[in-house]
Amino acid sequence: MSDEGDGTSRPAPPAEGQEIVDRIVADMEHLPLPARRAIMAPGVLEAIRQVPRHLFVPADVELQSREDRPLPIGYGQTISQPLIVALMTGLLRPQWGHRILEIGTGSGYQAAVLSHLVRHVTSIEVIAPLAARAADALAACGIANVEIHVGDGREGWAKGAPYDGIIVTASPPELPVELQSQLAEGGRLVVPVGRRDQMLKVIQREPGGAFATEEIIPVRFVPLV
Ligand code: SAH
Repeated sequence: MSDEGDGTSRPAPPAEGQEIVDRIVADMEHLPLPARRAIMAPGVLEAIRQVPRHLFVPADVELQSREDRPLPIGYGQTISQPLIVALMTGLLRPQWGHRILEIGTGSGYQAAVLSHLVRHVTSIEVIAPLAARAADALAACGIANVEIHVGDGREGWAKGAPYDGIIVTASPPELPVELQSQLAEGGRLVVPVGRRDQMLKVIQREPGGAFATEEIIPVRFVPLV
C-alpha cells in the first residue's frame, strides 16, 4: 500500500511509538511469563506504537516522553510507565467490540492506547484541569471514541455499566466491590490494590456471577483518593 500522494492515507505511526515499544520489549524481560504474555497479546504493542506520548506530558518533561518510566504531569500525579500501560492493557484482553471503563484519566495516555483496541472508553478523572488537558491531547490525536468525565471514580460510572473491562490506574486500599459489580459476564477488572505494598490484580466475572482473582506483579501507583 502506498502512503504517498492521495492525501487520504493515515500518517505513519510516529517513530516515538516504535522507540517506546523497543524499550518495553527490553524491560519486560524481568517480568513473569503471564505478564510478558499479556504485553505480547495481539494488538497491544501496535496500539502503543500509534500513540505520540509526548502530546500527553507537560512541556517540561516532553524530552523524556520516550523513556520507559513514569513522568510527572502536575497536581502530584503521574503518567504511568509505558511497560505498565502495555501490561494493564493486555490484561484487559481488549477486543474491538468492547466498552471499557477507566478510573484515573490522568494524562489520557492509557485511554489513548485503549482507544485503538476497543469500541469505546469511558474515563473518570477527579482533577478537573487534568481531565481538560487529557481531552485536548486526545483530540489532537484525532481520537473520538474516548469520553471523559470529571468526578470521583470510586463508585465507577453506573450509567454506562456493564463494562467488558475496567482499568483502575490509581491504587485503592482494598478491592473495589462497587467496580466489580459493573463488570459484564466475562469482563475483567485490572486494578493495583494496596496502600504501600500494592499488587496488580485481575478480577474476572465468571458466567453465573462468581469472581476469579489473579495476582500479577507488585506495582506502585498513586493512591485513589
Ligand atoms: N491513566 C493515567 C495515569 C493516571 S495517574 C495516564 O495514562 O496518564 C492516576 C490518576 O487517577 C490521577 O490523575 C488522579 O488524579 C486520578 N484519581 C485519583 N483518585 C481518583 C478518583 N477517586 N476518581 C477518579 N480519578 C482519580
